[in-house]
Amino acid sequence: MARYTGPVCRLCRREGIKLFLKGERCFSNKCAIDRRGTAPGQHGQARRRNTEYGLQLREKQKARRYYGVLEKQFEKYYEEAARRPGITGDNLLQLLETRLDNVIYRLGFAVSRPEARQLVRHGHFEVNGRRVDIPSYQVKPGDVITVREKSQGKGRIKELLETAEGRAVPAWLERDLAARTGKVLRLPARDEIDTPVAEQMIIEFYSR
Ligand code: SF4
Repeated sequence: MARYTGPVCRLCRREGIKLFLKGERCFSNKCAIDRRGTAPGQHGQARRRNTEYGLQLREKQKARRYYGVLEKQFEKYYEEAARRPGITGDNLLQLLETRLDNVIYRLGFAVSRPEARQLVRHGHFEVNGRRVDIPSYQVKPGDVITVREKSQGKGRIKELLETAEGRAVPAWLERDLAARTGKVLRLPARDEIDTPVAEQMIIEFYSR
């Protein structure tokens, strides 16, 4: 279960937007995008000529980094999205949104997707009463996600539960903070996914 382990603010600077990979820091004046918005590296300030391929590549990389997915797995998501009926771009975003780590983040049980991923890996959540420690686990409508009873009183989880109230939950999910649970009501529609990517360009990238 590989993941990117390098400096994450660099990824935001490369994409030129906030990818919100560091939780509270992303909203503070320490955010690298606010302090130094240029691309990283020696030639970060150089003016770039954007080819069609280059633009498609950037959209793909942006989506991949936003959800914390490596190349091979992202390609598999694309293949699955293309196989499913309906609009491939919508299917792709739906698959990414219904990853367990993203759902934990959307439910406000973590302040960033990388944090959600780590909490899932450490076994702090159950899906329908069974412990699941796979961040890429796909949730389905009707699934109930619970913070494990054993974990509820622990340091970081306790802190996150106490502050979760202030984090909004999208309409396709339902959160019951008293019960420490979240429920998937339905699959998200495209206009309920606020990911700042042009998914059509990602599809074009893979259909070359
Ligand atoms: Fe990106 Fe957050 Fe770092 Fe800002 S603080 S550059 S949003 S990861």
